[in-house]
Amino acid sequence: MIKPKLIQQFVVEPGSAVNLKQYVTDWTETEEAQELGKDVIKERAHEVLEESRKQLDATQELLYASDTHSVLLIFQAMDAAGKDGTIRHVMSGVNPQGCQVFSFKKPSAEELDHNFLWRYMKSLPERGRIGIFNRSYYEDVLVVKVHPEWLGPGQPANPDDKFWEQRYEDINNFEKHLSRNGTLVLKFFLHVSKGEQKRRFLERLNNPEKHWKFSEADLAEREHWKDYQKAFEAALSATSTKRAPWYVIPADRKYVARALVADIVTTAIQDLGLEFPEVTPAKMAVLEAARARLESNSNHAET
Ligand code: AMP
Ligand code: MG
Repeated sequence: MIKPKLIQQFVVEPGSAVNLKQYVTDWTETEEAQELGKDVIKERAHEVLEESRKQLDATQELLYASDTHSVLLIFQAMDAAGKDGTIRHVMSGVNPQGCQVFSFKKPSAEELDHNFLWRYMKSLPERGRIGIFNRSYYEDVLVVKVHPEWLGPGQPANPDDKFWEQRYEDINNFEKHLSRNGTLVLKFFLHVSKGEQKRRFLERLNNPEKHWKFSEADLAEREHWKDYQKAFEAALSATSTKRAPWYVIPADRKYVARALVADIVTTAIQDLGLEFPEVTPAKMAVLEAARARLESNSNHAET
């Protein structure tokens, strides 16, 4: 497991003003990483991912058995930052019945006709489950802040600061509500550099098997890079709370991002201190009776 002290540098301190330039995109370039050496880090990252996956499977079973909490993991990022791959790798060891992934695209006309949280509310994880939002209601203060013309009917044509502040407030209240009702909310911003995004786009263009992943719209959004970074900084500053913290995950190295997310998720669920439900004396008696019955019948049953 990764030391909590190391993880701490990626948490957005509630109430702090985020400057994304102060968060690394390539953690292997940091001083502490260079002391270890890139090969050691890569190997260690794979070990952490492997170990966390195993633990996450066991932890999810406990989550299901105890039936008191649910977990909501939110992933936001610029295009090609590795959301899909991170979700796939971190969740690959978990019982498919124990998790639900929802990817949110441009809202439909019906969705735009409701309050902006409506479509996400419908997809929240039930108790015992891990729900994953690949994009989320944060799009409604990110992509929509960069393109206010996408706000939909009944919304202001030129939303002012107050409009966005009210959305952050709505989000904070919503997450407070979730947390009070037993949902652990963890939010990940996969922080990729503009240079690495370009490299990944080119890879998509150069590799026929990755062509499907490339969308012309991604290039158009890349032109708005600065506006997006500003929108992320404002959203992260306004909505990182103790009960629903944001993590800024360095994402230029996929293995670093995956190991960090896997470790953070596993540790946070373990920290809930869940326990298997206690077996009551009455239930114990039922189990004993069942055992006795099976054993006394075994000769007949098997012939
Ligand atoms: P992808 O995840 O690459 O398939 O792309 C989904 C697209 O839907 C992205 O361009 C998002 O920015 C866009 N999208 C997701 N949620 C919203 C939203 N609430 N309003 C407008 N666009 C959105
Ligand atoms: Mg895309």
